[in-house]
Amino acid sequence: MTDRHQTDSRQLLGRLREVMAEEATGQTRLDQITQLIACEMNTEVCSIYLFRDSETLELCATEGLKAEAVHQTRMRLGEGLVGRVARTGKAVNTADAPKEHGFRYMPETGEEIYSSFAGFPIQRLGEKLGVLVVQSKTARQYSEEEVYALEVVAMVLAEMTELGVFVGEGAALSARHKNPVAFRGATGQEGTAEGHVWLHEPRVVVTNPIADDPVRETERLREAVDSLRVSVDQMLEGVAGADAEHREVLEAYRMFANSRGWLKRMEEDIAVGLSAEAAVEKEQSIARARMETASDSYLRERLHDLDDLSNRLLRILTGQGKETGAEMPVDPILVARNIGPAELLDYGRLLRGVVLEEGSVGSHAAIVARSLAIPLVIHAERITTEALNGDPIIVDGDAGVVHLRPEDTIVTAFRDKIAMREEAQERYASIRDTPAVTPCGRRIALTMNAGLMADLPSLEGSGAEGVGLFRTELQFLIRNKMPTRTELAALYSRVLDSAGGRRVVFRTLDIGSDKVLSYMKPTDEPNPALGWRAIRVGLDKPGVMRMQLQALIRAAKGRPLTVMFPFVAQYDEYRAALAEVDKAMDRERILGHPLPETLEVGAMLETPSLAFAPTQFFRDVDFLSIGGNDLKQFFFAADRENERVRRRYDTLNVSFLTFLENIVERCRETGTPLSFCGEDAGRPVEAICLAAIGLDALSMRPASIGPVKSLLIRTNLAELREVIHKAREEGHQSVRPAVMEWLKTQG
Ligand code: PEP
Ligand code: MG
Repeated sequence: MTDRHQTDSRQLLGRLREVMAEEATGQTRLDQITQLIACEMNTEVCSIYLFRDSETLELCATEGLKAEAVHQTRMRLGEGLVGRVARTGKAVNTADAPKEHGFRYMPETGEEIYSSFAGFPIQRLGEKLGVLVVQSKTARQYSEEEVYALEVVAMVLAEMTELGVFVGEGAALSARHKNPVAFRGATGQEGTAEGHVWLHEPRVVVTNPIADDPVRETERLREAVDSLRVSVDQMLEGVAGADAEHREVLEAYRMFANSRGWLKRMEEDIAVGLSAEAAVEKEQSIARARMETASDSYLRERLHDLDDLSNRLLRILTGQGKETGAEMPVDPILVARNIGPAELLDYGRLLRGVVLEEGSVGSHAAIVARSLAIPLVIHAERITTEALNGDPIIVDGDAGVVHLRPEDTIVTAFRDKIAMREEAQERYASIRDTPAVTPCGRRIALTMNAGLMADLPSLEGSGAEGVGLFRTELQFLIRNKMPTRTELAALYSRVLDSAGGRRVVFRTLDIGSDKVLSYMKPTDEPNPALGWRAIRVGLDKPGVMRMQLQALIRAAKGRPLTVMFPFVAQYDEYRAALAEVDKAMDRERILGHPLPETLEVGAMLETPSLAFAPTQFFRDVDFLSIGGNDLKQFFFAADRENERVRRRYDTLNVSFLTFLENIVERCRETGTPLSFCGEDAGRPVEAICLAAIGLDALSMRPASIGPVKSLLIRTNLAELREVIHKAREEGHQSVRPAVMEWLKTQG
């Protein structure tokens, strides 16, 4: 970079700073800035376009184009060169604009006489705010120095826009973070909530994008980078024994924190007049823009690390830690990019709902949200850049939609929906203690799925007859070290206490695949869902399984105990697991601990292979439970974690139902008790179909028990079975349409 370049840019930023210091309306400021840039950059036109709404850009100030066009000329995102810059987030610099792809001339601006065009996105941390444009009559390309200076100016304009500097009366744009915005994400957990935003990591506000003392700013940056390095080293020391992946992230942090290129680029930005904070943000914005377009997942991960590191650096520089002094609202809805299960549990039942930019349906955070019975919307892109602490917010977990700062009409419609839901809840409460007996006389046992102590209170409220699936891995997942046998025994004992004599089916540790323990050595597997998981880990490394079985026997303290092994794919695996149970019982007997009054041992049927196991297997197990989530993914070869394919195959597809019917039949022949504990059991229409094909026990989320029971007690399962058979005979792919039609006739 030449000195002249530094001097010119610094002078430009210095003048910009003077403009900002004066009292003025938003519009006057914008006008002054365009004049200033045109003059300093020696170009005939300088214009600023800002977003009027998320799809429309508006010419907000210009020097050189016709004044009448200001606030009149608008273009859609992607329209013309300005729209292209906004959409792609990339600059356009051309000597012959009309020849450029996508050029569109706006007659009211009088721009036809200008040949060269350079446009720069005004964006802050990947958030699109507008476009800065310079134009001139002579056909010339703007030089590298000019481009750099304009990029820096665009960055400062972004900070100012964010700070609301251009907000004013009349035609000026309205303030940011004030308008209603809707986010279309995906359902992580159903339910609805209305409340106020509580940011897990409040945004850092940079109030001083331009600085007049580069020496001082460089010093501040270096000091902050030094303390960042120290904190990263400390974090690395603190995780000495942790898993490779965790270390890898921190090693990447260290690499960036020590990267000379990173520091040098920020120092160059400071040299032209940016503050240390703005220099960090400039680099961060570039990383975010690359992150959006990077197709390589490794590179994306690293850019993510750099983004996190920049956030840390900004917090050091601004002194804005997580503790901002803001008070948590009474009805907090947590908004975060992502959150770990332990952190989410810390907030616990205080939260009304959770909205994440990332996350997945099977993520640990989603599991915890489910336990806490709070709605969760995932993939709400950019919500952390838009939301401010305290903003009113509505979470519609059923539709996967979030309304930030909603308009009154939305609030009213939403409240109506909640009122209807409450009415339904009252109906469900009224049948809570009624058994699920159908008009044709079938009695279906409805139990709940659980995994945390936090789930147990739902046992009473939901009317569940017991816990049909207790996922023991959740206790392992939410900690950062392996729980001890004593801790587990105490916990399982409390679970049995809370169940008050109702049956609890404890499923042994189901880790691997999507459930990875941070403190266990990770295995690098090409396809974890088909890999070393659940009972496979339990049998190959029996230490943990033995410890868990002992803890369960001790927890029972002589009460009945039910244990279930996950992911059994063949008879021998079950036999080996059963042998472990026998050994554990022997050991406890020898140690003089009381043994459970009764012991039932069963298996989850989650792989198609087990449905075809020898008849002896069905006789051997005390019970079977169909893990429909896994079984369905393996039956259709469709990854349950992959948003692209996971909804592709209907549970009511005739192939799947026929397969399930075969399992029901084999269990009937051998007298094996059978239940179904996948998510589908909690969906009323699916649940009645499962019951119609012969399942007598369904285990589901507590909140689903009311709706499922309410439909079951009105459904003649014998008739429904006929409907299903007929649809199959007629060659339909799914029986759903026929079932829905039939349900309509049932009133
Ligand atoms: C299942 O696979 O259906 C199941 C209940 O287990 P999980 O969802 O924990 O894998
Ligand atoms: Mg499973």
